[in-house]
Amino acid sequence: MHRFLGFILFQPLLQGTPSWSFSPPKNLSTRKATVSIQAVNDVSNESVETTDAVVCGGGPAGLLTAIMLAEKLPPSRKIRLYDRLSAPPDADDDRIWDNDVARFYLIGLGGRGQSALQEFGAWEGVVKDRCVSVVGRRDWQPGDREGTERIFTKAEKRVPTEVLARDKLVGVLHQHILDKYKGRIELNYGFEVHPVDFNHENGKSVLVEIAQCTSELVPLNRLEVKTSLENQEEILCSTEDTKLLKVNGLLVAADGTVRTVANAMEREDRKRFDSLHPIQKVFSPKPFRVKRYEDDNQRVYKSFPINVPKDWRFDLNYSARAKRATFDALPANRKGNYCGLLLLKKDDPLAVENNDPKELRAMMDNSFPYFSKLIDDETMATVAKKPVSYLPSFRYAGPRLFQGNNCVILGDCVHTVKPYFGLGANSALEDVRILGQAIDKHKDENGEFDTAKVVREFSKRRAKDSKALVRVSRDLDRPGKLGVFTFLIPIILDSIFNKFLPAIFTPNIINMLQREGWTFSGVARRKRLERIVQIAMLTSGFYLAGKVATRAILWTATKLFAVCQRSAAARYAIPAAALSFVGTFLASRSNKTRESSKDLPAVADVITKFSKKSEEKQVTK
Ligand SMILES: Cc1cc2nc3c(=O)[nH]c(=O)nc-3n(C[C@H](O)[C@H](O)[C@H](O)COP(=O)(O)OP(=O)(O)OC[C@H]3O[C@@H](n4cnc5c(N)ncnc54)[C@H](O)[C@@H]3O)c2cc1C
Repeated sequence: MHRFLGFILFQPLLQGTPSWSFSPPKNLSTRKATVSIQAVNDVSNESVETTDAVVCGGGPAGLLTAIMLAEKLPPSRKIRLYDRLSAPPDADDDRIWDNDVARFYLIGLGGRGQSALQEFGAWEGVVKDRCVSVVGRRDWQPGDREGTERIFTKAEKRVPTEVLARDKLVGVLHQHILDKYKGRIELNYGFEVHPVDFNHENGKSVLVEIAQCTSELVPLNRLEVKTSLENQEEILCSTEDTKLLKVNGLLVAADGTVRTVANAMEREDRKRFDSLHPIQKVFSPKPFRVKRYEDDNQRVYKSFPINVPKDWRFDLNYSARAKRATFDALPANRKGNYCGLLLLKKDDPLAVENNDPKELRAMMDNSFPYFSKLIDDETMATVAKKPVSYLPSFRYAGPRLFQGNNCVILGDCVHTVKPYFGLGANSALEDVRILGQAIDKHKDENGEFDTAKVVREFSKRRAKDSKALVRVSRDLDRPGKLGVFTFLIPIILDSIFNKFLPAIFTPNIINMLQREGWTFSGVARRKRLERIVQIAMLTSGFYLAGKVATRAILWTATKLFAVCQRSAAARYAIPAAALSFVGTFLASRSNKTRESSKDLPAVADVITKFSKKSEEKQVTK
């Protein structure tokens, strides 16, 4: 059973401090609408700057989108990317990455992410060179001192997971753009994008406001700025200069959990929907919304820098589970420097800033002695002092992923999952690949395409998948007893059925979600079907086993009864009667067996007969 519980960390769990996030100032308010409707109407087309394509957000998905657009759009078309933070750190400066490996959270790129990067020429020779391959795992179960090592086979993982810091991935893509797409892609840091009019000029373009963030929020050395992810949503940076920008082509929002664009879409749709007559509402398409699940299984984490001993491999995911917490470590580089992550329940006394280093040490000694001895007192004190970091909560957007004819959303802003199964960045990068395919489908011979068709095509292909990804991932993270039914039992069933009937039953759902040949909704559908077949097989199996057992009991009871009759030994009366009772009871549940039980005496008959025989015996004596 413990092995199966270990699946929660089966896929690389790769975290660290979200160093790229910023601290919201006290006086910060959430800006909902920055430009009045009147101002939008007053915009004379001549006075507004125009551009061909805008990408909102310079995370992994945003940067790859800019590269994809540069590859797909005619060479004359310019792409502008905006991110509210400052430019990412230099991916090749080892001083940044090796000094404190616990500063950056690590992500694992699997088949989905690697294929997407490969498709746009950003994998081999670009991102791959900065990754560390993880070829297997070593897991410690509670009380286990040695741990169990397992190297993945090709059948388990088509490609090894490649690990690097999220910020390093961003740094590499940023540098790749500067090297290869100078003049095509314009990168703007310290600017926030706000949608103003999704249907500008009768749906021919989209109008956005570009706001320059104040230096207070985007310090030059953003590595110093840390805060919890929990504070990210709905918080916008305080801005000074703003300008309007008209986007004639695509506005691609890849703004992560901040969701500036998705929130604006939601507000616009809700307003439109609320203004409808109740009867109109019935026939109107469902409004766009962001489904925000309450986190009922919240975990927080603290990250540790660890140097693994020389006799440990440097290409494994080290993971341990204890009653109170889990610990998961991934290689930050190829020199044996790992970033270890201590995951605690939110209400754990240690899940606070400035906790007692002695208590932290005691817990580590108790639960993870093999990791504790790798951490010196100074590091322990630093970690104890750190604030905790939060994992993102489950969210998905839908039922469509576009607004108007020009705006499309992708990445974490559409589907946010906890990083247990390593799917966030991978699915975000896969979104970009699918948007590229949608463009290809509607592109003419001059490379021009109808944005209205492209955004709809993308939405058709990805909206259901995003929902499925979030719902399936959430099912795997339910608390307590619920988790037994939504996670543990399905994983056990899948493992057993896949082992004995691999041609019919696919591997467990965590494994299936990693396979890039499968859509997330396809995996969910397949698993639903398999579950029905599994339950049907188990039910008929139990039914047949029950029948065989009934027959066996009846047969034994008949034999025993015959023996009793012959020997007339009163001491057999009770067991024979009991067996006969069980047999008769089971037999009475099936018509057929009821037929065969006709010759059998009832329990009362057995006892009476034995009593009579005993009496007769006594009389004869
Ligand atoms: C601890 C942790 C561990 C993880 N481990 C893994 C893993 O192992 N594997 C995996 O696949 N995924 C993992 N993830 C998830 C992964 O980091 C995200 O899924 C991924 O970064 C999403 O990329 P994105 O580009 O969609 O969004 P983000 O990376 O969030 O980028 C969004 C960007 O948009 C910018 N932005 C926001 N609003 C605006 C605006 N209005 N204007 C301009 N810019 C804006 C933000 O500044 C940000 O830079 C992990 C996440 C965490 C927190």
